[in-house]
Amino acid sequence: MSNIPRLAEVYWFVGHLVGGVGDVDRIVLVGASLASVHAIDTLRSNDYAGEIVLVGAESQVPYDRPPLSKEALRTGHHVSPLRGPEWYADRGVRLELGRAARGLRPATRTVVLEDGHELSYDGLVIATGSRVRRLRHGDEHICYLRTADDAAALRERLRAATRVAVIGGGFLGLEVAATATELGVHTTVIEVAPVPMARVLGDEVGEWFRRLHERHGVAMLCGRLATGVDRVGEEYVVSVPGREPIRADLVVGALGAVPVVDWLAGSGVAVSDGVVCDFTLRTTVPDVVAAGDVARWYNPLFDEDMRVEQWTNAAEQGRHAALTLLGAEDAYAPVPYFWSDQFDAKMRFVGRATAADEIDIENSTDRRLVATFARHGHQIGALCVNAPTELPRHRAAIAARSNLSSRPA
Ligand SMILES: Cc1cc2nc3c(=O)[nH]c(=O)nc-3n(C[C@H](O)[C@H](O)[C@H](O)COP(=O)(O)OP(=O)(O)OC[C@H]3O[C@@H](n4cnc5c(N)ncnc54)[C@H](O)[C@@H]3O)c2cc1C
Repeated sequence: MSNIPRLAEVYWFVGHLVGGVGDVDRIVLVGASLASVHAIDTLRSNDYAGEIVLVGAESQVPYDRPPLSKEALRTGHHVSPLRGPEWYADRGVRLELGRAARGLRPATRTVVLEDGHELSYDGLVIATGSRVRRLRHGDEHICYLRTADDAAALRERLRAATRVAVIGGGFLGLEVAATATELGVHTTVIEVAPVPMARVLGDEVGEWFRRLHERHGVAMLCGRLATGVDRVGEEYVVSVPGREPIRADLVVGALGAVPVVDWLAGSGVAVSDGVVCDFTLRTTVPDVVAAGDVARWYNPLFDEDMRVEQWTNAAEQGRHAALTLLGAEDAYAPVPYFWSDQFDAKMRFVGRATAADEIDIENSTDRRLVATFARHGHQIGALCVNAPTELPRHRAAIAARSNLSSRPA
C-alpha cells in the first residue's frame, strides 16, 4: 500500500501537465461500493489522469454483497473484495476508508467527513448505496443483513438456532429463508402481502415462490403484518395481530432498503426516494453524478423514473456516471437485470415488472417458470426460473421498444 500516495501524486502531476480530461483535477467518490469500483475503472481506462479519492464508511475495500445471503451465510467463507488493495494502488487511488461523509457543500466543492475534515473535489460521484429498513418495535432483537459483518454475525446466530422467523417475503427474506432451511433451521416467513414478492412480480408469480418454499419446508405466513418483537426469557416473540405470535430463537428483518441520502441534507442535491438524476446521471448540482442503489434517474427506454437495487445496475451505472463526469452526454437507458437463488430455483429477471398491466405465465411447472410482463401491449419484463436460454430473446424484445427521445433531460 506504500506506493499509493506516490502514484496518486504522479497521476495528479500528469493530469496537470496534460490538462486532465475535462479539466477535472480531483474526483471524489463517496461510498466504497460496487458502483465506485466500476467508476474508477472507467475513469482510468478513459485516460483520466487526475486524482481519485475513494471515501467509504466501512473500513474495508468494496466487496460483493449477493453472496452474503447465499454462499457466505451457508458456508461462512469470507467475502472477497471486488478488487484487491493492489488494484487501487496501481490506479493511484487514495483510499479514505472507515470515514463516512456527513456533508456536501457545492458552493465550495467540498465533502465534509465525519471527523470534520474537508475534502475538495472537481467532480463527485455519489455512490452511498442503500441501508436496511428497520422495524420500530423491538428493533434491538432483530438481525439485519447488509454488510459482511452482518452476514458473519447472522451465520453465527443461525448455527445456534433451531427456529428462525424472517420478517419480510421479498427477495432477501426468501433467500435467507432458503439458506436457513438448508442449514437445518426451521423457518417461518411473515409477509404482509397475500403472497411473497407480490408487489414486484404480481400474485401468480408470488404464489409460485410461496409453493416453492413450502415444498422445502418453510412455513409461509402471508397476508399478516409483524408489528414488533419482544424478548421473553430465552426466546423472541414476534407479534402478528389476529393470530398467535411466532416464537423463535432468532428473528431476521428483511423489510427492504432505503437509499443513503441523509448526509446530503441541505446540500441542494435534490432527493426523492434516492438522489434525483437526469438521464445522463447528473444530479441537480454541477459536476456531481450518482450511481447504484442510491440513484433515481430517468430511464428513457421505459419512459420512467426509476431506482433499482440490483448488482448489474450498480456496476453499469458506475461506468456511465464516470463517463458523464468526463463530459459524455449519452443517456443511461439499460434493460435492468437481476437474479435471485432460492433452493434449486435460479431466478433471472430482465426489464421491469412494477408498472405492468398484463402478466402472462408462459410456462409453469414445479421446477420451471417463465412469465412475461407488458404495459400498454408492449413487453417490459420477463422472469425466467431455471430457464436461462429464454432470457436473451426477452431482453432483445424489451430493448427493441426504444423510446429514447421521449423526454428531455
Ligand atoms: C445480502 C444482499 C444480497 C443481494 N443479492 C443480490 C442478488 O442476488 N442479485 C442482485 O442483482 N442484487 C443483489 N443485491 C443487491 C446488490 O448487491 C446491490 O444492488 C449493490 O451492492 C449496490 O451497490 P452500490 O454500489 O449502490 O452500493 P453498495 O455496494 O451498497 O455500497 C455502498 C457503500 O457506501 C457506504 N456509505 C454509505 N453512506 C456513506 C457515507 N455517508 N460516507 C461514506 N460511505 C458511505 C456504505 O457503507 C457502503 O459500503 C444484494 C444485496 C444484499 C445486501
